Amino acid sequence: MSFKLAIVGRPNVGKSTLFNRLVGKRLALVDDQPGVTRDLREAAARIADLRFTVIDTAGLEDATDDSLQGRMRRLTERAVEMADACLFMIDARVGVTEADRGFAEILRRQGATVIVIANKAEGKAGEAGFYDAFQLGLGEPVQLSAEHGEGVTDLYSRLRPLIEAHEAAEEAPETDIDVGEDDGDEGTRRPDKPIQIAVVGRPNAGKSTLINRILGEDRLLTGPEAGITRDSISVQLDWDGQAFRIFDTAGMRKKARVQEKLEKLSVSDGLRAVKFAEVVVLVIDVTSPFDQQDLRIADLAEREGRAVVVAVNKWDLETDKSDKARELREAFGRLLPQLSGAPLVLVSGLTGAGLDKLRAAILSAHDVWNRRITTAKLNQWLAGEVSAHPPPAPSGRRLKLRYMTQAKTRPPSFVVFCSIPDELPTAYRRFLVNGLRRDFDMPGTPIRLFVRGGD
Ligand code: GDP
Ligand code: GDP
Repeated sequence: MSFKLAIVGRPNVGKSTLFNRLVGKRLALVDDQPGVTRDLREAAARIADLRFTVIDTAGLEDATDDSLQGRMRRLTERAVEMADACLFMIDARVGVTEADRGFAEILRRQGATVIVIANKAEGKAGEAGFYDAFQLGLGEPVQLSAEHGEGVTDLYSRLRPLIEAHEAAEEAPETDIDVGEDDGDEGTRRPDKPIQIAVVGRPNAGKSTLINRILGEDRLLTGPEAGITRDSISVQLDWDGQAFRIFDTAGMRKKARVQEKLEKLSVSDGLRAVKFAEVVVLVIDVTSPFDQQDLRIADLAEREGRAVVVAVNKWDLETDKSDKARELREAFGRLLPQLSGAPLVLVSGLTGAGLDKLRAAILSAHDVWNRRITTAKLNQWLAGEVSAHPPPAPSGRRLKLRYMTQAKTRPPSFVVFCSIPDELPTAYRRFLVNGLRRDFDMPGTPIRLFVRGGD
């Protein structure tokens, strides 16, 4: 999908003028009367060789009464949700107004990637407003004159890395799995929107017992399959106020098959369930934890980019509970470093113990998987890491890492720009991934890091 850029800001700052310039056709009406256009418009746009889609939010009269302010806010929020990045425009001749601060707050709250545009800056007229715009705390503004076409080169150099990052992530094989129709809702959780989970694990780990326990404890089955659920491919339920959809694995089916066959099936069924899932719950039997098959399934979930929660089942059988828990955590960290810090929950499908903790762990894993970190924070972080531990110079040439941005969530995916991308050692990439995981608190989720060429 093409990179989407929203132009946001209060009325009359010059959004439509810029929109027209980027689109190259007189699509949007421009008028001295604020707000002659209506609602959101999208159009194909370009600057030199950069091609993208631009979303215009011009179209509301001066937001003086409450309902208009509300509409303006909703319109902006919608545009920000749809967009990969936002141009937040202010009028450099006027400086930063109270309304501008309101918009800045919306953008911050939504975690948007923002480029501040100080418009109407032709001549020297916009200088004060340009400096003023730093106080919005959204990074260095671009001085622009949408009307006269000045400053477009600066805009180009700010947009280029974002668009390249977006394209890199789109090309990447690891991120081509679509989880469903609701990919747009990144970073938010709604109680009525089911969190999709797959319960996987080898035969006899206790998957069916656990699922039936979750379903059994007076939990409402919802959705079209209610009633025939035990045989269907997935079940939807309300689990203490949050909707979940559990995807079927072999464990949920009737066990009329011979064990050998089940063994094979559970791997391919597990794979299918993992593809549908947002969070994978790996059920492990405490009496024989982390055998090859468990590790294979966890590795598969990681490669598919899913958040992982480990449910150590049959905990009721364990006598030495405190030592065992520590031992399991240690083993997990060692055997699956790529899922370092994934929540490990001790449960018993038989007694129902630990189910609340399991639910909480799934929710928090889902949040981490959806996390978005602002470009400003990432670059501040990158500068610190690089100066503390500069990348090595394998062929004598110094490697420069100048810029990092988050291209995607679900799972968190980042792009770093490197002067000689092919020479950035795997160990250094791992160092950056581990640092991201640690400093931005993203335990147990796969983290993708793409390296691209560019200064
Ligand atoms: P919108 O309401 O944010 O979409 O703003 P418009 O694009 O309709 O512009 C509002 C007014 O500002 C119009 O009269 C434009 O001609 C004027 N304007 C837009 N860009 C510039 C600029 O770069 N310099 C100056 N001086 N005026 C501009
Ligand atoms: P699945 O093949 O992963 O679906 O495993 P099942 O749910 O069929 O369970 C396999 C066996 O383990 C059954 O005999 C269950 O009764 C037993 N089991 C499952 N969960 C627990 C548990 O939490 N504690 C104990 N003690 N046994 C369990």
